[in-house]
Amino acid sequence: MPKIHELSETLTNQIAAGEVIERPASVVKELVENSLDAGATRIRVDFVDAGLKQIVVQDNGTGIERDQVDLAFTRHATSKISNEHDLFKVSTLGFRGEALASISAVSHVEILTATDGAIGTRATFSGGNKKGQEDAASQKGTKITVQDLFFNTPARLKYLRSPRTEIMKIVDIINRLALGYPQVSFTLSNTGKILLRTTGNGNLKQTVANIYGRHIAEKMEDIEAEDTDFKVTGLISKPELTRSTRNFISILLNGRYIRNFQLNTAIMDGYGSKLEARHYPIAVVSIKVDPLLVDVNVHPTKQEVRLSKEKELSRLITTAISNALVEKVEQTSAFVNL
Ligand code: ADP
Ligand code: MG
Repeated sequence: MPKIHELSETLTNQIAAGEVIERPASVVKELVENSLDAGATRIRVDFVDAGLKQIVVQDNGTGIERDQVDLAFTRHATSKISNEHDLFKVSTLGFRGEALASISAVSHVEILTATDGAIGTRATFSGGNKKGQEDAASQKGTKITVQDLFFNTPARLKYLRSPRTEIMKIVDIINRLALGYPQVSFTLSNTGKILLRTTGNGNLKQTVANIYGRHIAEKMEDIEAEDTDFKVTGLISKPELTRSTRNFISILLNGRYIRNFQLNTAIMDGYGSKLEARHYPIAVVSIKVDPLLVDVNVHPTKQEVRLSKEKELSRLITTAISNALVEKVEQTSAFVNL
C-alpha cells in the first residue's frame, strides 16, 4: 500500500474545479453571478472560440480592494457569508468561495479591479498560481479575462461538445441571468459580434423582447399571485404560442435560475388541457421568498435547491397561471359580445 499523504493546494483546487467548472458556460455563469452580487448594473461578456480561447466579463460593481485580491482567488474565501447561520439565509448568488479559485486553477486569469474610478489593481494567475500584481488605471468595477480554459486539464477538453453547442450554452445561461435581473443591462458578444443586449430598465417584458423577440413578448401575459410565504410574478405565453421543448421555461428563485421538476409540472398544470401534447409554453416565473425557506447548499452549481413548502408554491404557481389564462378568455368573449 502506498503511504497516505495530503495533496498540494494546486492539485486540490484542480480537483475541486472539476465540480464547478464543467465548460466555458460555467465560467460565464460564475463570473456574471459575481458581478450581480457586486451590485453591477451593467455587465459585458465577450468570448472567443466558444469561450475556450478567451472569456471576458466586465462589470461596474463594487470592485475588490487590492489587498483582498489574493483572498478572492483562495478557495473557501468569500465576502458573502460568515457563519453557519448565514448559510441558511443566503441572499447572494454565490457563497461557497470557490469560483475564482477553481477558474484560475484551470486557466490563465487576469483581473483588473477598482473600488473607485481611478487607480485600481491588476493581478494575474495561472494554473492556480499567482503570477503578479501591480497598480493599474481602471474604471470602478471589475474586469476578469480568462484565457486558455482547461489548458492543464486536457481530459476536460475531450468532454466538451461542438463549439456551436458550447456557444448555445453560454447564450442560454446569459438569457436566464438576464431574465432574473431585468434591472441590469447585459451585453453578450462573440469575438466582438453582439449576440444579445438587454436594456436593463427593469421591465421584464422588455427583457423578454430583447431575448426572444418583440413578437413573442407581445403575446405574453402577466402572472401574479401571493401568499404569506411566496410572491410569484412573471410572464407566460398564451396556449397558442408554444415550443417543442421545455427550454423556454425559466424559473427564477430570488433571481437565481433553478431547475425544478415539480415547479415545472406546476406551470404545465396551470395550462390544464389548453396545451397540446408535447407542446411547452414560453414562461418566466419569478419567485420571491424568504431565503430561510430555501437551502441552496445542495449542489455545487446551485441550480438545484431544496425548498420548504414546495407543494404550497406549486399550487400558487398553477393558480397564477390558470387565472391569467382564464381572465384573458373572459375578456375576449366580452369583446365578442359587444
Ligand atoms: P463567492 O462568489 O462564492 O463568494 P468567488 O470565488 O466567486 O466566491 O468570489 C470570491 C470573492 O471575490 C467574492 O466573495 C467577492 O467578495 C469577490 N468578487 C468576485 N468577483 C467579484 C466582482 N466581479 N466584483 C466584486 N467582488 C468580486
Ligand atoms: Mg461567486
